Amino acid sequence: MKVPLLDLKPQYRALKSELDAALLRVSESQYFILGPEVKALEAAIAKYSGCRFGIGISSGTDALLVALMALDIGAGDEVITSPYTFFATAGTIARVGARPVFVDIEPGSFNIDPDAIERAITPRTRAIMPVHLYGQMADMDRIMAIARRHKLRVIEDAAQAIGSEDAKGRRACSIGDIGCLSFFPTKNLGAFGDAGACVTNDEQLAAKLFKLRVHGMEPKYYHELIGGNFRLDEIQAAVLNVKLPHLDAWSAARQRNAAFYDAAFAKVGIKGLVTPPPASVGARHIYNQYCIRAPRRDELRAHLAKAGVGAEIYYPLPLHMQQCFAYLDHKPDDFPESLRASGESLALPIYPELEQGQLQYVVDSVAQFFSG
Ligand SMILES: *Cc1c(COP(=O)(O)O)cnc(C)c1O
Repeated sequence: MKVPLLDLKPQYRALKSELDAALLRVSESQYFILGPEVKALEAAIAKYSGCRFGIGISSGTDALLVALMALDIGAGDEVITSPYTFFATAGTIARVGARPVFVDIEPGSFNIDPDAIERAITPRTRAIMPVHLYGQMADMDRIMAIARRHKLRVIEDAAQAIGSEDAKGRRACSIGDIGCLSFFPTKNLGAFGDAGACVTNDEQLAAKLFKLRVHGMEPKYYHELIGGNFRLDEIQAAVLNVKLPHLDAWSAARQRNAAFYDAAFAKVGIKGLVTPPPASVGARHIYNQYCIRAPRRDELRAHLAKAGVGAEIYYPLPLHMQQCFAYLDHKPDDFPESLRASGESLALPIYPELEQGQLQYVVDSVAQFFSG
C-alpha cells in the first residue's frame, strides 16, 4: 500500500469542474492582478478569520514581511519568536533589519512558551510573533497579557492554522494586531502556487498594508511609503474562492483522522511514542500536521519510506542553529525543548481524503518497526 504524506489530486478531482471553470473565467477576463477575485477572497478570508479587513498578499512569507513593515519594525528593534518553526517566521524579522529573539517552546504543544517570552523582553523589544504550529493556537491569552503589559505589538503567524480556535472560541488571526496566512499548496487551504494574506481588525493598519502591498503607492505613481510588490494573482484568488467553502469539511476530516491515529496508537501502546496533545477543551486544532514524537525517529522514517508511507521531519534544524543566524551566537541547548522536538518529531499523513485502511496501515507500519 502507498500512503503519501500529502496527495492533492483527490481534492482536485472532487472540485475539478468548479476549479477548471474558475481558471477559465480568469483566462477569459484577462484580468490578472488584484481584481474582483482577490477582492472577493479578501472579504471572505477576513470574515472566516473573525477580522474586519483582509489583504491578499503574494505569499505567507510576504504577509509576515509586510506586517512587520506596517508596524514600522526595523533596525535596532527586537522581535520575540519561536526557533521551532518554518524559516520565514524569523527570516522576515531579520529582513526588515530587526533582531529575531528566540525563546523556547512548550514541550506539549510545540508552541512558544509564554513564561520564556516575559524573560526575553528588553527595552528594544517591539513585538511578539507567535506561531500557531501544526494547526494549534499558541496561548494567546497569556501572550496578549504580556504584550499589553509591555506595550508590544503581536503578529500571529497563522500560516498553518487558518480557522483554528483557542479554548475561548477565538479564531487564529483575530487576537493580535495582524494575522498572517499562507495558501501554499501544502497548507489546509492551498492555492495553485504561492499566495497569502494579512488580516486585521485595525482600520489604519489595513490601509497601510494595502498601500505597502503596492510599493507604498497611493495615488498611482505617488509613494508615501517604501513598500514592495506583494500583490496577489487573480488565478490564485479564483482557486481559493472555490476551495474556501470546503475548508471546514476538510479540517473536520483531518480531525477525524487525528482521532483515529490517537485511538489506534493508544491501543497498540508503543513505548516512548508520544502522539500530539489533543486540543484543550473548547479549542479547535486543524491538524495541518499530525506530529508524533518517536525514539529512533530517523530509522522509523526510513522504515516507513520502505513500507510506502510518507513521513516528514518538521523541523530538522531549529532556527537558532541555522548558519545564517550564527551572528546571534546561540548554542544548541539554549532552547532544549526546540532541540529535542527537532530530534524526535515526525509528521504522518493526515490529509482529509485518506481512507481508514490507509490510516490503519500507517499505524501498523509504525508498530511493526518497534516490534521488529
Ligand atoms: C508556510 C509557512 C510560512 C510561509 O508561507 P509561504 O506561503 O510558504 O511563504 C510561514 N510560517 C509558517 C509557520 C509556515 O508554515
